[in-house]
Amino acid sequence: EDGGVGGEEYLFKIVLIGDSAVGKSNLLSRFARNEFDNNSKATIGVEFQTQVVDIDGKEIKAQIWDTAGQERFRAVTSAYYRGAVGALVVYDITRRTTFDSVKRWLEELDTHCDTTAAKMLVGNKCDLENIREVSVEEGKNLAEEEKLFFMETSALDSTNVEAAFEVVIREIYSSVS
Ligand code: GDP
Ligand code: MG
Repeated sequence: EDGGVGGEEYLFKIVLIGDSAVGKSNLLSRFARNEFDNNSKATIGVEFQTQVVDIDGKEIKAQIWDTAGQERFRAVTSAYYRGAVGALVVYDITRRTTFDSVKRWLEELDTHCDTTAAKMLVGNKCDLENIREVSVEEGKNLAEEEKLFFMETSALDSTNVEAAFEVVIREIYSSVS
């Protein structure tokens, strides 16, 4: 703690987007509080959660925004995206329709955010291998096409959750430092 004298402060706004029920809220609660909710309602009632992350000895505040379920009505507002420097675009590997929506979410992101925003394609629910509808290869290929980072995650068993957020935070950090 240096009271801010000569210290750098980093606050990065990161948005979670993707179709309803892909696991956005649970990815955030897993990352920020190490919690998972099986019967999670559409909303956890907060706009964002701030998580402090240490990157190369620098304290970075990641302000991660979650939708309040408005994605069901395709009504995510521009205020949600305003000032975002990173995004996790989430689909559910067990529901192909959510993967098909990714391009639409990317277009929306491009209209509202700086095109230099750090973007990660996230295939969530990788614990449900037995009912998988989207292969890892398809996820990788789309990410390559769209120049996104890519990971499969599970908010349920914690696979890659921290890693996915950290890659985005690191990328933002390296672009501003
Ligand atoms: P959101 O609408 O995108 O915020 O999705 P939620 O986080 O509310 O999750 C929707 C449903 O999927 C809930 O029933 C969660 O318990 C479930 N869910 C979320 N993430 C995972 C996961 O990684 N694995 C499994 N098996 N279920 C998950
Ligand atoms: Mg939600």
